[in-house]
Amino acid sequence: MASTNRQFHLVQLPDGPLTRDCFRLAEAAVPEPKDGEVLLRALLMSVDAANRAWMQGATYRTALSAGTVMSARGVGEVVESRHPDFAPGDLAFGDLGWQEYAALPGNSLMKQPRVTPSSHLLSVYGISGLTAYFGLREVAQAKPGDTVVISAAAGAVGTFAGQIARIMGCRTVGIAGGDEKCRWLTDELGYDAAVNYKAGPVSESLKAACPDGVDVYFDNVGGEIFETALSQMKMNGRIACCGAVSTYDAASQPAHGPRGVPFLFVVKRLAMRGFIVSDFFGRRDEALAQLRSWVETKRLKVIEDVVEGFESLPDALIGLLHGKNRGKRMVRIGEEPGA
Ligand code: NDP
Repeated sequence: MASTNRQFHLVQLPDGPLTRDCFRLAEAAVPEPKDGEVLLRALLMSVDAANRAWMQGATYRTALSAGTVMSARGVGEVVESRHPDFAPGDLAFGDLGWQEYAALPGNSLMKQPRVTPSSHLLSVYGISGLTAYFGLREVAQAKPGDTVVISAAAGAVGTFAGQIARIMGCRTVGIAGGDEKCRWLTDELGYDAAVNYKAGPVSESLKAACPDGVDVYFDNVGGEIFETALSQMKMNGRIACCGAVSTYDAASQPAHGPRGVPFLFVVKRLAMRGFIVSDFFGRRDEALAQLRSWVETKRLKVIEDVVEGFESLPDALIGLLHGKNRGKRMVRIGEEPGA
């Protein structure tokens, strides 16, 4: 085991787009686990749009503050355990933060099975796959024949959501940034149509892609795209509010929302529901079994964007906020056990 623990500290909160100087590389001693804690060696760090939203204020977790190790979730290998449920060699998922070693309460960790490749623990069998699965099936109540529109369609949640909707017998339309990404969505991921939001306002192109309107809108981005999708919902349409990445890379969340929405909801009998994937963790095993079966029968492609090396963490997050990823982005920090 190494004697030092490299860390990235969040040294200042951004008051606009996230920049590299918000982070500083530091070295600390490898921590000693206390009673009830587990010492983990980080293997893979999840890079999430939400990492940036946590800097804006309290969300489903407390807000990040400057002067601490940057928070992030990842998978690590247990090196030493003072918790009865974990033993050296186990894999666990939790808020490891941007550091090579973390001592965390065993009760805050989720034990993980060994799968090959272990990156799937952060993608299809992790938060992204489960969010897409429950968001479509439980929150949006998608059903065969529905026209389903998904924003941030080429990202982690979006690549799974589009494919799952197709497997469920829906017609799928993805919204993403750039012609090349849009071509990839239709040619490689099986989306029926794709809309490039960077080519101008999406109103006309979304109408062309969904001439009869939208039954389900899976919203990952909020902002103007959300407003446009709402205006094109069909009667009894359903909107699953998963995230609002277009609003994250700013000092704070926008103070005002779209106008005119309440009456639209009345007239069209729309239903909109926000969710956090952990709301459904009681049914995790059922979802994982289904996802595993789709992956093993090659009905579901797992798109991962693995960036190598601890030093890459800040740029990997900044790049994700600028659309540099396809599928689930993560940073490989440590050698796989047994490698
Ligand atoms: P992604 O892998 O989708 O990466 C973010 C993507 O957002 C980028 O690739 C970029 O793609 C797109 N993007 C960035 N800025 C904008 C913008 N201004 N307008 C439109 N698109 C933009 O990230 P995740 O899959 O991790 O997250 C997707 C969403 O899901 C986020 O809002 C996140 O908070 C949410 N989420 C919610 C969960 C829940 O439990 N509710 C759980 C996990 C994620 P492009 O090139 O297309 O611009």
